[in-house]
Amino acid sequence: MKKQYDYLIIGSGLYGSVFAHEAKKAGKKCLVIDKRDHIGGNVYCENIEGINVHKYGAHIFHTNDKAIWDYVNQFVEFNNFTNSPMSLSKGKMYNLPFNMNTFYQLWGTKTPQEAKAKIEEQVAAYGVKDPKNLEEQALSLVGKDIYDYFIKEYTEKQWGRKATELPAFIIKRLPVRFTFDNNYFNDTYQGIPIGGYNKLIDKLLDGIEVVTNTNYFSDRAKFDELADKIVYSGKIDEYFDYKLGVLEYRSLQFENEVLDTDNFQGNAVVNYNDASYPFTRIIEHKHFEFGKQSKTVITKEYPCEWNPSNEAFYPINDAKNQALFEEYKKLSLEEKNVIFGGRLSEYRYYDMHQIIAIALKRSKTELNND
Ligand code: UDP
Repeated sequence: MKKQYDYLIIGSGLYGSVFAHEAKKAGKKCLVIDKRDHIGGNVYCENIEGINVHKYGAHIFHTNDKAIWDYVNQFVEFNNFTNSPMSLSKGKMYNLPFNMNTFYQLWGTKTPQEAKAKIEEQVAAYGVKDPKNLEEQALSLVGKDIYDYFIKEYTEKQWGRKATELPAFIIKRLPVRFTFDNNYFNDTYQGIPIGGYNKLIDKLLDGIEVVTNTNYFSDRAKFDELADKIVYSGKIDEYFDYKLGVLEYRSLQFENEVLDTDNFQGNAVVNYNDASYPFTRIIEHKHFEFGKQSKTVITKEYPCEWNPSNEAFYPINDAKNQALFEEYKKLSLEEKNVIFGGRLSEYRYYDMHQIIAIALKRSKTELNND
């Protein structure tokens, strides 16, 4: 017998919202549920003093894919914010990502040739050809100074593990440039939705039934009866009741402060690279939208271990956890009426544009085959 909804979508983050939007467009009836008291997952912003505060960590939209850029722009206009984080290391400020400005500030090198020679000299002195962990990867890519000033202490704080025990791929995200270019991302398109991310989510879910404060696991049998198919964007191990074991994450604690000044740090993101600071960075949210408010809101990010009572942010993709995930993935393929997708379901660190791309691809396959 046909059930009340075509799709029950669990989680109203970007994956669930894009899927729901596409399903509705194809004439399907969807119900979106979310256990939090708001929609939008981790892109949700809270308005404090007229400033959009990125409640679950800074989100900066960037992509090289024109189709994805056009897709989001049909819902909301984006400003021209460019992420150019600063770093405070050993008492001095430096530009990030690693570029000619950073090299000048660090060594006084004025040309790409001088900077390259400095890095090559340090890499050669280190001499490892086949890096096996994050420390070896960094030292063989950028040498000792950059590793000591910007990578080692930040990374060990962020992950709560020695850099020698972390996989190398974590820092492949960090670009190295021999131009005076402080743009963190290499992508063609970048910006923040004008008016905040909530607008984007509101538009995606416009006309779709959404219920917040509703946890699928509180009454699975009831929810399973509601729809022909389920789109699940929660934690994959939780879906299977952790029966094979618990997947590990790194979590963050955010400490917000409203300050009676219009400009605290002059930049949206300042990384605190030294181990002596217990937080990794301070976000000053108004700068994402060039805010002119008289006050400001800053957030200190404290990395911590994940436990079931805090939020799961960064998957720990080491060999042990990855192997466990693969076992869960096998189980998920046997669930014929459930589509698993998103960061928590795929146990993978995704950027926003990647989540949108997979949600569009999967919804297309699903809706065309239906
Ligand atoms: N990282 C670092 N120093 C920095 C910034 C980042 O060593 O100043 C490393 C760190 O290991 C981190 C990874 O690069 O986990 C990715 O950092 P990014 O800020 O790009 O990622 P986010 O945490 O914002 O997703």
